[in-house]
Amino acid sequence: MSRLPAGVMREATIDVGAIEANVRHLRRIVGVEVIAVVKAEGYGHGAARSAAAALAGGATRLGVADVGEGLALRRAGIDAPILAWLHAPGASFGEAVDAGIELGISSYTQLQAAAAAAAMDRPAAVHLKLETGLGRNGIAPADFAVVFAEAARLERIGKLRVVGAFSHLSNASPEEDRAALRLFEDGLAVAGSVGLAPRLRHLAATGAAITLPETRLNCVRLGVGIYGLSPFPDRTSADLGLRPAMTVRASVAAVRRVSDGHGVSYGYDHRADGDTTLALVPLGYGDGVPRQASGGGAVSINGRTFPVAGRVAMDQLVVDVGDHAVAVGDEAILFGDPTLGAPAVEAWADAADTINYEIVTRIGPRVPRRQVSA
Ligand SMILES: *Cc1c(COP(=O)(O)O)cnc(C)c1O
Repeated sequence: MSRLPAGVMREATIDVGAIEANVRHLRRIVGVEVIAVVKAEGYGHGAARSAAAALAGGATRLGVADVGEGLALRRAGIDAPILAWLHAPGASFGEAVDAGIELGISSYTQLQAAAAAAAMDRPAAVHLKLETGLGRNGIAPADFAVVFAEAARLERIGKLRVVGAFSHLSNASPEEDRAALRLFEDGLAVAGSVGLAPRLRHLAATGAAITLPETRLNCVRLGVGIYGLSPFPDRTSADLGLRPAMTVRASVAAVRRVSDGHGVSYGYDHRADGDTTLALVPLGYGDGVPRQASGGGAVSINGRTFPVAGRVAMDQLVVDVGDHAVAVGDEAILFGDPTLGAPAVEAWADAADTINYEIVTRIGPRVPRRQVSA
């Protein structure tokens, strides 16, 4: 019977070897430069370790949402190029430029702020973000000419280096993603006409990078796939040749034999159907296990998988294991790599009516991460 290390109540193991292998695999498929996206603490896996593993697997650059995340990577000793694309209103970029963090620029105002942060010998490195339909940030097509001309001027006087141009797809349909690609190419033509020649052109995240080769351009931004998860509802990690890197498990904290009709957890939403054994698993919504998965989800104990019995509480959940042999200290696995017998994270995503991205990203700080390499 599998057990966690003595004294460990719950943990998430992060297989950095899997992240490295996933990047290598995806890099071979796409055949272009890879920006590994490690925002939100590397989708819950730990930003610095995920970044290091992704770089070892062949990513050449890193992407984060905000500058603070980029600075944290620098403090952790990561010296690869980092792009940050979401900024506070009125942000100034001095610290980012000093730390060599590249800035995604979505407006004329941000362009000016980036130029203002340039030092004598250090222009601000930017990637122009073009709005191509997603309706989030990005320079609007009507503003391309004005903003790009100003970027070209600032580049000529040494305040800026326009390293890249990018946009982000909706994944609404292949047709809509292709329409966004055409808008992006129109934008690149405008940039060229004012004298800009951004070396990197990137549009696709994991989904489009796999299924729409024309969106790969010369660089892709890969997030969920590097952690071994599929962005597609109808294709598993294994279908894509990926290995999920995160396994969440806990030690069974208590076992109780109860008789028919015994209620379980708040509200007694579950009652024992005949004499049965209840196993208490010390993971709850305080750890990021969605309360909405009450009555569903998947917990594997000693080789069998059970749904949650009753409601997920803040710190714990209960599994009704029937007559299956379970003892205090046995390992309960919530999700991991299904090819190794663990439930898929998608079982939790389905039960909570969400996506695999959200389940791994929300695994909270109370769950210690332990780095492994299989
Ligand atoms: C999060 C994000 C990505 C990564 O998306 P995945 O679907 O996880 O590969 C890429 N680009 C931008 C702008 C993002 O916000």
